[in-house]
Amino acid sequence: MATLGPVSRHEGVLDRLVAAGMDVARINLSHGTPAEHEEAIAAARGAAAAHASPLAVLIDLPGPKLRLGDLAQPLSVKAGQHIALGAGSTGMLPVNFPDLLPHLRAGERVLVDDGAVALRVRHALPSSLSLEVLNDGIIDSRKGVNLPDSRLPIGALTAADRELLDWGLRQDVDYVALSFVGCADDVRELKEAIAAAGGDQLVVAKIERKEALVEYEAIIAAADAVMVARGDLGVEIDPALVPVWQKRIIHAANVAGKPVITATQMLQSMIGSPRPTRAEASDVANAIYDATSAVMLSGETAVGGYPVEAVRTMAEIACVVEEDIESQGRAPQTWAAGRTGVSNAISHGACEVAHRVGASAIISATYSGATARAVARNFPGQPIIAVSPNQRVVNQLALSWGVHPLLGTRNGTFEEIVAEACFLVEEGGHGAPGDVVVITAGLQTNQAGKTNLIKAHVLA
Ligand code: PEP
Repeated sequence: MATLGPVSRHEGVLDRLVAAGMDVARINLSHGTPAEHEEAIAAARGAAAAHASPLAVLIDLPGPKLRLGDLAQPLSVKAGQHIALGAGSTGMLPVNFPDLLPHLRAGERVLVDDGAVALRVRHALPSSLSLEVLNDGIIDSRKGVNLPDSRLPIGALTAADRELLDWGLRQDVDYVALSFVGCADDVRELKEAIAAAGGDQLVVAKIERKEALVEYEAIIAAADAVMVARGDLGVEIDPALVPVWQKRIIHAANVAGKPVITATQMLQSMIGSPRPTRAEASDVANAIYDATSAVMLSGETAVGGYPVEAVRTMAEIACVVEEDIESQGRAPQTWAAGRTGVSNAISHGACEVAHRVGASAIISATYSGATARAVARNFPGQPIIAVSPNQRVVNQLALSWGVHPLLGTRNGTFEEIVAEACFLVEEGGHGAPGDVVVITAGLQTNQAGKTNLIKAHVLA
């Protein structure tokens, strides 16, 4: 998964990014113009079509990201100094959401520029806040501001996000991510806005606020997918706790059967270097061993000097880890075993059968994508080939762990569904004659949630 930006939003580069393994393109709406994003989306889709590769387009809404306004010049501050934060009159630091300031209490921290400068609220002034600087540093225009100790009575979906959402739905994107989600209601609000506009986009909740950790399981339950947004999260909480929460969120998302993205600084040094550090390679690999569905590049592909190398490196690490997992012949994970319902039971059963018969792949004929996600939740030791008649679902499944989505027609009898799926699998090089594959499908075709069959099948 790669964030597109000035160095990567053009046709030639996108062609190389797709060839290198990018299957989810993230458009970060905190930067750039709609015209630039439209160019990026069209070029990314063109490149994916040229390579016959699945590609999900994800827009990332900024949410209530607090930022400083413009300063006449960078401000050098010293520990112990007092400074005012407000709407922006002379002598005070301007902030983009001044209405939030009355909700801050004395003693709470205000962290500027990813925590490079920490301040503490002393007391409220008539139209601003008096802050004490806790460490020496430089404060510059438009730097991000985090309020890790404050409970803010605001929803994550701002008026500006709603406008960006309207634009994104017109671009027919596949996923909408929401930044600074505080609670499950924030996710529901976005889902309602998408449904009211007649959209079928799936929602990714970005977990990056300390407040969100209080009800992260409810947020995962409300969302379609989740992102461990380690950048802001590592400012709001102690960086030592980020790996703890990363593992918790990945596990909870897997239990819930929701795709989970591990994001930020994964190959950070590749912004300026063609090779990653060993620690970065290990970070990417460990997230995949932990069963993250996707690993994400941000600045590496948006503004870095080596965007294609970064995607290639990440894809190589992912392939090596997946081959290692497959070579271990690992049994499906048990975290989904207890889930009731026909689709869940069939999906778990398909993974068990695939493991016991040494299948080379699990084929999931899926209408809505739900069965393929339910299969992926078991983290099986075989690739999951998802065949869906719905292009949106094919795109969306590009985000799921271990899933290779293919476009089918899925009309007709069970035998016809199996024949088409097997043809697509062999045509795509995912299986050869003589291979055993395990197929999951539904007898009532073209309906969501109707998966009720498992078949062990030898490719002809
Ligand atoms: C993050 O904070 O880790 C993140 C992914 O969000 P953004 O890139 O929007 O800051």
